Amino acid sequence: MSIIRHDWTEQEILDIYNMPLMDLLYKAATIHRECHDPNTVQVSTLLSIKTGGCPEDCGYCPQAARYHTDIEGNDLMSVRQVKAQALRAKSSGSSRVCMGAAWRNVKDGPEFENVLEMVRTINKLDMEVCCTLGMITENQAQRLAEAGLYAYNHNLDTSEDYYKEVISTRGFEDRLKTIENVRKTNVTVCSGGIIGMGEKVEDRAGMLVALSRLSPQPESVPINSLVAVEGTPMEEQEPVSMWDMIRMVATTRIVMPITQVRLSAGRTEMSREGQAMCFFAGANSIFAGDKLLTTPNPDVHQDMEMFKMLGLNPQKPFVKKAQPETVEAENSKFQPKGEKPKWTRPQHTIDRNETAKQKAREIKKEAIADK
Ligand code: SF4
Repeated sequence: MSIIRHDWTEQEILDIYNMPLMDLLYKAATIHRECHDPNTVQVSTLLSIKTGGCPEDCGYCPQAARYHTDIEGNDLMSVRQVKAQALRAKSSGSSRVCMGAAWRNVKDGPEFENVLEMVRTINKLDMEVCCTLGMITENQAQRLAEAGLYAYNHNLDTSEDYYKEVISTRGFEDRLKTIENVRKTNVTVCSGGIIGMGEKVEDRAGMLVALSRLSPQPESVPINSLVAVEGTPMEEQEPVSMWDMIRMVATTRIVMPITQVRLSAGRTEMSREGQAMCFFAGANSIFAGDKLLTTPNPDVHQDMEMFKMLGLNPQKPFVKKAQPETVEAENSKFQPKGEKPKWTRPQHTIDRNETAKQKAREIKKEAIADK
């Protein structure tokens, strides 16, 4: 029987990642079958409830206000709009809605109150609700839990070492602190990362070390492959090979046996055969819908066709954990505290981020001159 270990070393994980592929697949698939139904895949729909204009400088993200990209920004959606989207997601087979807002951190106030109402609304549709809203305090995590939140997503993105090459507006420790705040509630944790940002294989292993040391380990670990968007600091990155993705999924499955391993961004670049190998290697969750926040994703009908071909079934909601209760706003035990936590702001220089920022400034200047 698979044992949950929190003491993996980077070298042990590298040795797994670099195993002959057939051995790696066999080992990962064996563990997967011990801990999960191999023919069931959880389907989530990711919904961008507030798009663009983010003050952070994540090098992979087209929503960072400082870079010039083609995405259209949007203010916070209304509860009604979110409900309509959730119903659509439910009717096409999703058991979970994950709402993403391009914020550095959550601020107490009317927008957060609206998000809490969105959580209540979707939980009452008997769907799992997840949010990804940036850094949150313990009080905010408690309020989300009370509204009926099922999961909170907060990715570590990469290893602690390489994090400094990707983001300069916050530190790795802020990520861990938010996860710790979520863990003080009954909300489950979704945390993973991105491969293909120019990191070494050691950084991929380092990220898995950090995730596996969390206790308990995250209930869900999304593995993204970078979608290099024009205008971002990572626009020139070469796409990750399918084999790297398969190795990463299989290694994650071995290191965190009971976690749901989620195939996330980058699926449009993967063949069905490649995705099938990822499912065999231990992936048991996907994001559905034609967009992942702002980047393209396979259409849900294509996914359902693929499921049919592979004999996979979408997982029903609340199979892993009971549905949380929704407490109405007027009965809430937790009031907003208006805290102003001191999240870090290291602001070291990342050359490629600076170059992208400079390029955006020049484009803006030219646009003004052309008017
Ligand atoms: S990844 Fe999130 S925090 Fe980073 S720039 Fe994009 S929206 Fe902002």
